[in-house]
Amino acid sequence: MTDLPALTTRVGLGFDIHRLAEETGAELALSGLRLPVDLYAQAHSDGDVVLHALIDAILGALALGDIGEWFPDTDPAFRGADSTTLLHAVLSDDRLAGWRLAQVDCNIIAERPRLSDHKPAMRQRLATLCDLPLDRVGLKARSHEKVDATGQGQAIQAQVIVQLAPCQP
Ligand code: MG
Repeated sequence: MTDLPALTTRVGLGFDIHRLAEETGAELALSGLRLPVDLYAQAHSDGDVVLHALIDAILGALALGDIGEWFPDTDPAFRGADSTTLLHAVLSDDRLAGWRLAQVDCNIIAERPRLSDHKPAMRQRLATLCDLPLDRVGLKARSHEKVDATGQGQAIQAQVIVQLAPCQP
């Protein structure tokens, strides 16, 4: 173990899923935006599956645990929390010292809402939140082919992979 070379990059993988509920006038928190789609994600926080998966990917890249350890859903402080605030808390934590996001890629899997019209804005918002140029941020959306609860429109999922790079001295 002692002859392992120092890492010049780190990668992390994140996943999240939340149930969807209908409510007239409701907004869905997704990729740091609020989409006016008469749906919301049932969650302790705002239920943003993209940002939750992103946070888990960052924590995974640095072997720093998971989002549930950092922001327990038993803690009233995080009830209804804006996930952009949680992301900023992670990105500014001292334990990330020396590393920064270098690349992000994301899959969103949902039967509803239709996301094609929202993809450019979600990708731009993700790039802004990650302080990355657009060509380092991938965002794809797809259905679940009517398979299982997500395919029946009862849930929304996200997968995120990140690459971290050392901060320039
Ligand atoms: Mg979540």
